Amino acid sequence: MTKTVDIIKRDKAVLSTSMTRDFDFVFKKGRGCNIWDTDGKKYLDFAAGIAVMAAGHEAPPVVAAIKKQLANATHCAFPDFYAETPLLYAETLLGNMPKPLNNGRIFFTNSGTEAVEAGVKLAKWNKRGSHMIAFDHCFHGRTMGSLSMTNSKPIQREGFEPFLPVKHVPYPYWYRMKMEPEECSSHCLNALEKTLFELGDNCSGVFMETIQGEGGYVVPPKSFVQGVRKLCDEHDVIMCSDEVQSGCYRTGKFLAIENFGVTPDIVAMAKGIGGGLPLGAMVARRELMTWPPGAHSNTYGGNLLASAAGKATLDYLKKKKAAQNAVKIGNHIMKRLNEMKDKYEHLGDVRGIGLMIGAEIVHDKKSREPAPAEREFIIHRCFDKGVIMIGAGKSVIRFCPPLIITKAEADHGLDVFVHSLKMLHEHKKKGGKMTEPRITRDHYT
Ligand code: PLP
Repeated sequence: MTKTVDIIKRDKAVLSTSMTRDFDFVFKKGRGCNIWDTDGKKYLDFAAGIAVMAAGHEAPPVVAAIKKQLANATHCAFPDFYAETPLLYAETLLGNMPKPLNNGRIFFTNSGTEAVEAGVKLAKWNKRGSHMIAFDHCFHGRTMGSLSMTNSKPIQREGFEPFLPVKHVPYPYWYRMKMEPEECSSHCLNALEKTLFELGDNCSGVFMETIQGEGGYVVPPKSFVQGVRKLCDEHDVIMCSDEVQSGCYRTGKFLAIENFGVTPDIVAMAKGIGGGLPLGAMVARRELMTWPPGAHSNTYGGNLLASAAGKATLDYLKKKKAAQNAVKIGNHIMKRLNEMKDKYEHLGDVRGIGLMIGAEIVHDKKSREPAPAEREFIIHRCFDKGVIMIGAGKSVIRFCPPLIITKAEADHGLDVFVHSLKMLHEHKKKGGKMTEPRITRDHYT
């Protein structure tokens, strides 16, 4: 029995059945953009631990900062005691924010869902409206407040009612809705406006992923994001941006929403900002964060190790010009994917900003019908060839490598991807059957 088989067997005996692992991959170590399994096989990590390892695995300054902090203390109950390490991190984080959020305030959390929860609570605390508005196919997390908004897959919600009061409105996934981008943008904004009118004072805020992640790496038209801002202002509700996946320079800007010329009132962040340690943050405009001591808190927010890792990560990303690299390599990946799109019938759509890129796998370009089994075929061929790629939405493959990826590494991943795409076309040409998709995509986040 290999080590991999042994570990998977033991894992299946004791761990929650809700976790789904798509690959028989047992993680052993990571360096930069590469990871190794427990049997010593090397892989290129095109998923970055689901958009977490922005600075790559084991970035030397991040490891050094963790070790330095470890020599002093790991935990101080920061919500109850002052400490400089989380404060330095807070100052650095705010320094990266666009105006006027750079003059805002931060509440530290341990995860993305907890940052979203804090954002919902702050919106409600300020506006006292019973409802939030969220979008179709959104993903904001799995604890009860964020789950009340999350609706990218039925299985995420089944069996967990009742939810908090949330109204869902359409999000401009124009490719799938078979509309032109601007037509789709107006359609969705009209639905949002109607819902805001209906809710009146019962609405506290609108929560939105600027670029939908789990829902399928969907990039909305600029007019839509600007329209949401305008409607929030007109209806005096709080605009909350979920940047858990899209933030931390992934799109070339610190927040993805900066690409759309919009500043939200509240931002939820996690994943990339912690350098691999569990860390999230809810950042709000200064005038909104006036809730009194005790109104909201936690135990681990501002954890010393996580803050040290987070600060070192942000400094390192700046030093390495990761934002510029995300744009440069992202444009290169988009160019190559678009060239492939012209050649391959199953590559229906390619979209993204920076290193947040989605490739939508379809049955054919005309019907645009999602092809989950074909998507899985490609992902598994990539895995066999040592490239980790993950899905999103019904049949999208995401490209979200570490932001420090080189052109040579990106080209290697793309070469493997195109080879897998070719294999799919040849398989189907020969009349090969597709197996039922094992990847349900209900579990990636
Ligand atoms: N929001 C978005 C956009 C996400 O992508 C995720 C996780 O993938 C979350 C929230 C929840 O984050 P976490 O899994 O850290 O709770």
